[in-house]
Amino acid sequence: MIYLDAAATAPPRREVLEAMWPHLTSEFGNPSSSHVAGESAARALEEARETAAAVLGCRPGEIIFTSGGTEADNLAVKGLALTGLDRQDRLERLERPAHDRSGAAPQLVSTAVEHPAVLESLDYLRRRHGFRVMLLPVDETGMVDPEEAAAALTPETVLCSVMYANNEVGTIQPVGEIAARCRAAGVPFHTDAVQAGGWLDLDVGTLGVDALSLSGHKLGTPKGIGLLYLRGAPPLEPVMHGGGQERGRRSGTENVAGAVGMAAALALAAAERDDAARHASALRNRLIDAVLRGVPGALLTGHGTERLPGQASFCFPGTSGEAVLLELERGGVLCSSGSACAAGSDEPSAVLTAMGLDRETAQTAVRFTFTAAIREDDVDRAAQEVVAAVAAVGGLAPARLRA
Ligand code: PLP
Repeated sequence: MIYLDAAATAPPRREVLEAMWPHLTSEFGNPSSSHVAGESAARALEEARETAAAVLGCRPGEIIFTSGGTEADNLAVKGLALTGLDRQDRLERLERPAHDRSGAAPQLVSTAVEHPAVLESLDYLRRRHGFRVMLLPVDETGMVDPEEAAAALTPETVLCSVMYANNEVGTIQPVGEIAARCRAAGVPFHTDAVQAGGWLDLDVGTLGVDALSLSGHKLGTPKGIGLLYLRGAPPLEPVMHGGGQERGRRSGTENVAGAVGMAAALALAAAERDDAARHASALRNRLIDAVLRGVPGALLTGHGTERLPGQASFCFPGTSGEAVLLELERGGVLCSSGSACAAGSDEPSAVLTAMGLDRETAQTAVRFTFTAAIREDDVDRAAQEVVAAVAAVGGLAPARLRA
């Protein structure tokens, strides 16, 4: 089997599991307990926080461990929006005379290509709290224009959230530029870095972001751990209420083993990043070339160069993405159609339609994603299987771009 679905979940890494093992066995204390077992667990948790903070270039107190990327996104978007709402209310009350209040709803700015963890959080804030949501468009490569992002910011904007790299097409967004525009406008900026985590620079100072979400299982931990970086550790409306762990920002007994694994995975990713990106990019380009050569009419989706090293995504017009996937699985290649979350849904990908593809073409999407452990012979075999799978499920019609 050739596993080319690392964006859905990456294989756990041995070094990560080894780092976690003591905390799943002998070192099982609750970090809140005041006895020696608890103290030892609390120490492990704080060491993990320090390691993660060193990779992100921030202070340990600015890291909140969560159950994964979805929770980190929810906490960032809902927490910052609701906290920002309070601030905006106070400003309105204190600074503007009653007759001069605009009455405009607080605004959230994001993009049409975010993961559902962000989009659904935004929609919740719109439905239940009256926020206005402005989703920035993307071009045909899936890229957001920083000028458009800057133009969308208003005095009512309480948060801007733009993902670092897209999970379906791998396009890398100019988050540094957008973050700078937000900073100039005094708007907090969050980025969902879940797919970027294993590949791109995560230094939050260089990026200039106020909040950043990561997920462990895309980096080689078991599922169930993630983190949110929050600049300056400001007060934050929590999503999880309870015993006040993580300085009151995320209640629930901490996943100590997960946090230790997350720190180990981040440290490995940082140490290996340049070599990993070089190796994976070369093999990604080899896969892209072989597929485009072997399947005339195939369409590479996403950006030509600003794309994640371990990501190649295509549409095969005239086929069905699901049928191609089944053929590929028969041939020993595991991958997915667009995002793993949308798998099995009949709806075409919202990311691809936002990029201007028509519904029929969007329904033919197939995504190949891998870690730096990928080998050249895997790529060559996968490319042969793609050519055979597309031929087996039918011909190709030219892709149509929406007017
Ligand atoms: N954000 C992006 C861009 C993702 O790709 C994913 C998962 O695929 C998530 C968030 C959610 O992360 P998790 O699976 O850890 O909840």
